[in-house]
Amino acid sequence: MPKQYRDLAGVPVIARTIRAFDSHPAITALVVVRHPDDADLFAAARPRTRLPLIEAMGGATRDASVRAGLAALPEGIDTVLIHDAARPLVPRAVIDGVLAALVDHDGAAPALPVTDALWRGDATVTGTETRDGLWRAQTPQGFHLSAIRAAHAAHAAHRGQAADDVEVARAHGLRVAITQGAEANLKLTTAGDFDRALRLMEKDSDMDIRTGNGFDVHRFCEGDHVMLCGVAVPHDRGLLGHSDADVGLHTITDAIYGALCAGDIGTHFPPSDPQWKGAPSHIFLTHAVDLAASMGFTITHADLTLICERPKVGPHAGAMRARLADLLRIEAGRVSVKATTTERLGFAGREEGIAALATVTLVKP
Ligand code: MG
Repeated sequence: MPKQYRDLAGVPVIARTIRAFDSHPAITALVVVRHPDDADLFAAARPRTRLPLIEAMGGATRDASVRAGLAALPEGIDTVLIHDAARPLVPRAVIDGVLAALVDHDGAAPALPVTDALWRGDATVTGTETRDGLWRAQTPQGFHLSAIRAAHAAHAAHRGQAADDVEVARAHGLRVAITQGAEANLKLTTAGDFDRALRLMEKDSDMDIRTGNGFDVHRFCEGDHVMLCGVAVPHDRGLLGHSDADVGLHTITDAIYGALCAGDIGTHFPPSDPQWKGAPSHIFLTHAVDLAASMGFTITHADLTLICERPKVGPHAGAMRARLADLLRIEAGRVSVKATTTERLGFAGREEGIAALATVTLVKP
């Protein structure tokens, strides 16, 4: 199996690589260039992403594959980062360094200085080379899109194979800044590299795991259905609220804000603001999910309990889980929707409204 589809600590290498960029707030689109024969491998490894993810077909050569990726980018992109799928542990600081250097350079790419002595030789050493001014090149290699497209077009017409995109850029006269690389940004090539990556991940396990809780209540009013987790459930009442009063989505949204220590739904969408009147509540949840991603968190689990005598939730729980999984961008197997009554006690028991409780788990690797 090609190394980018192999598992690294339970997650395909390419999924980790994609997530490293999907979770960076400055990135707006993702293009994966894959071998035309790898459709099934990629489909199995593909993570759910915040950003649109475009698949482009690789060419016969490395350069042709990069050109295909550049051609597949959506409209309105002016800066591109070209990255090896086999470097899944690229730290955010490395991406930040490349983006910062692009402000006043044609191109920028991370590298580390060569520290080992360099020999020339075969079975025996025949000479030594100075390592002064030598660098070990890494990716992502960043460029202004029009410039690197022109460089690749010229390269295709006049030259053979390039080792990387910096070579293509320089051949076209672009100035490429060297930015800070990282040992963690290693390229997985041999079995030993996978072992090294695992050791780096263990050493670097300052994993941030958080749980957030949410609670919300909406009162019944006149109506013929209630919105619960984005599903319209027929009922002889409606739910009263400034938005569509989806008590399930509000509760999950508040639980995510809670895990992020980022206030609550009213902080981000003030009820005094007329633009949210009647709004579909998935807007609120999508905002919280995007905020979590921009802070580097992955949502790994959500558990919701709806509290009411009626309507009966059970027949709709599957549709609610599916809709929540879509909105949270996680598998339905990580989403739980339960319901309970209060034995006819209290406001829920008197059928005055619906309450909801939620717990979500977020992980920053
Ligand atoms: Mg509410």
